[in-house]
Amino acid sequence: MLNLILFGAPGAGKGTQAVRLRDRYGLKHLSTGEMLRNAMAAGTPLGLEAKKYMETGGLVPDEMVIGIIADVLHQCTGCKGFIFDGFPRTVAQAERLDALLKAEHEQVDAVLMLDVPKDELIRRLKNRANIEGRADDQNESIVANRISVYETSTLPLARYYMRRGKFQRIKGALSVEETYEQLTKRVDALLG
Ligand code: AMP
Repeated sequence: MLNLILFGAPGAGKGTQAVRLRDRYGLKHLSTGEMLRNAMAAGTPLGLEAKKYMETGGLVPDEMVIGIIADVLHQCTGCKGFIFDGFPRTVAQAERLDALLKAEHEQVDAVLMLDVPKDELIRRLKNRANIEGRADDQNESIVANRISVYETSTLPLARYYMRRGKFQRIKGALSVEETYEQLTKRVDALLG
């Protein structure tokens, strides 16, 4: 299996690139944000609980997202690998992901960070608010909170994966095409 994590702040371009990498390498795309938004739209108990956190830009409790991921991993027999987008977001989530994969004799192969400057993130999120209409992109204070939660709770994960030799950084406000080229170069190198 090939298991990749796309890492980066809100607005860094993880979703866009994840879909392209999914198609190129035949991986299953797992976006916890998308799964939570679907649960919210369907009005499931999990969706209703998640809504409380998502509307302020805070993180949904670890146990909730880990539960979703564990279900998908168990259901996916014969998958070529996963591309995780927006997960893990805390060290506790990363530890649980390692344990879940280990139980299947698998591992995280690479963590690819899209490292985009903050002013560019804000510009992109404003633009996305007009195009996609996501509630958490619409309000400036929610956007600011999501970026600050990223810096406080998620960025420490970079060290976690650096120590394990898995971390690679793609730096700068590159175009979609340039970013994709950088990503595929790294993934092709992993595949040898
Ligand atoms: P995203 O689409 O990845 O930007 O996620 C949208 C929102 O869903 C986030 O602001 C969080 O409230 C929640 N969320 C998504 N993924 C996670 C995660 N791995 N851990 C905690 N909360 C998450």
